[in-house]
Amino acid sequence: MDRDQFKTAAHSAIDDIINYFDSVPERRVLPAVEPGYLRPLIPEDPPDEPETWNQIQEDVDTKIKPGVTHWQSPNFMAYFPACVTYPSLLGEMYSAAFTAPAFNWLCSPACTEMETIVMDWVAKALALPECFLSTSKNHGGGVIQNSASDAIATIIVAARERRVREVVLAEGLKEGTPEYEDRRFEVQGKMVAIASDQTHSSGAKGALIAGTRFRSVTARLEDNMEMTGPRLREVLEKCDKDGLIPYHLTMTLGTTNTCSVDRFAEIKAVLQEKPAWQRIWVHVDAAYAGAALVADEWQYITKNFAEGVDSFNMNMHKWLLVNFDASVLFVRNRLDLTNAMDITPTYLRNPYSDMGTVIDYRNWSISLGRRFRALKIWFVMRSYGLNGLKAHIRKGVELGDLFAGLVRGRSDLFEIVTKPSFGLTVFRVKNPQKVSSESTGTSDRVAKDEVADSLSKKVSELVNARGEIFITATVVDGVQVIRVVSANALAEEKYV
Ligand code: PLP
Repeated sequence: MDRDQFKTAAHSAIDDIINYFDSVPERRVLPAVEPGYLRPLIPEDPPDEPETWNQIQEDVDTKIKPGVTHWQSPNFMAYFPACVTYPSLLGEMYSAAFTAPAFNWLCSPACTEMETIVMDWVAKALALPECFLSTSKNHGGGVIQNSASDAIATIIVAARERRVREVVLAEGLKEGTPEYEDRRFEVQGKMVAIASDQTHSSGAKGALIAGTRFRSVTARLEDNMEMTGPRLREVLEKCDKDGLIPYHLTMTLGTTNTCSVDRFAEIKAVLQEKPAWQRIWVHVDAAYAGAALVADEWQYITKNFAEGVDSFNMNMHKWLLVNFDASVLFVRNRLDLTNAMDITPTYLRNPYSDMGTVIDYRNWSISLGRRFRALKIWFVMRSYGLNGLKAHIRKGVELGDLFAGLVRGRSDLFEIVTKPSFGLTVFRVKNPQKVSSESTGTSDRVAKDEVADSLSKKVSELVNARGEIFITATVVDGVQVIRVVSANALAEEKYV
């Protein structure tokens, strides 16, 4: 494809993408295809001779679009949203055009420097405490990761390294010696990462990747599925009894199942109770709900993070209008990350890195090469402005409140199971035998009920089988529920 052919093809692709967004509300959100639908439509082998863009684009239309689940549809109300917007797409185009895997500053100074600047913008937009800015005295800063799972795994490895080093050095062993290495792996075998049983599975996966144990704190409906201080204390005391070393705790701001918020103040107080617990690395996973922090009414939450929180992540690619991938991770002390991740063979050395005056983001993440993802974040933040982002978040929360109100209005059929939160409503279908006139549909009334479980499951399966609306079924504290969240860029009252 030469420059003129690219120009024609790109115009045609952009027209098609715009038409796609225009038509997405009319499309069935779930595709009507069966597993394996694509293979018979695509040749067994790649073509020997070049094909034209028209042929390729025609296949996108006839073979790919019919198999796409339309996450941008306003009828997509499952999981959490995965937003995309025009400025974000433009950022992707430039990023691809520059393709300059910026593992070291030298490999593309603009890419590194824009990432640092834009991460500071994001930290300020989310009202994170000053300690998470790259300009802070404590060497904080942010980095863009592929996904929240990568961010959490990276942080757990950094937390493991920090704690192992502390424990082994305190025993008087010298780093680099065989005794140190033997003891290091002995200590690692005793280490435990902790999270609530509502924490996203990336918490347990991170512990697995870090080669350590994992223990979970039970969350209960009576606590609105929030991790509480007393339940955390039970797990920590059990770890002490078993001779284990808790080194990492994930607190969640907006859990995947119900969008509950762990009780930061209670948890912080428990961690203060023993010196060993004070050494636990505390991470806040705000993958979805972190986006709400752009709106002033939620910013009281981050005041809790000024002390006692080591790191924080959120996905701009969920609710904050930047397309996948744009997972932002902030740390209080970047040395904790680079101490764990910096391995520098000669071929990666250069005068700027050696002087230590630049950031080399390869030492802040698992991958070496990295894309210029800061561009799309920069484009979105400038195109919407903070006020545009706030308006988008408030619209999602309002639509959630509207939906919860509609569910409450049919208390003869449904009951709300957990407190509606950040646009997400979690409810179930009532057992018709137990519908009573005094039922108000508040969570303190929810009890296990097999008929309600089975009906709720059937309703969600029926809705999804029709394919016009996509919702999620899940189980919380043994209760089968339906979750609905309508918060992508095209969400509107009429669809809710
Ligand atoms: N954390 C929470 C609270 C989530 O809800 C999710 C995904 O929905 C994740 C982490 C994982 O996100 P990612 O797909 O970016 O790894």
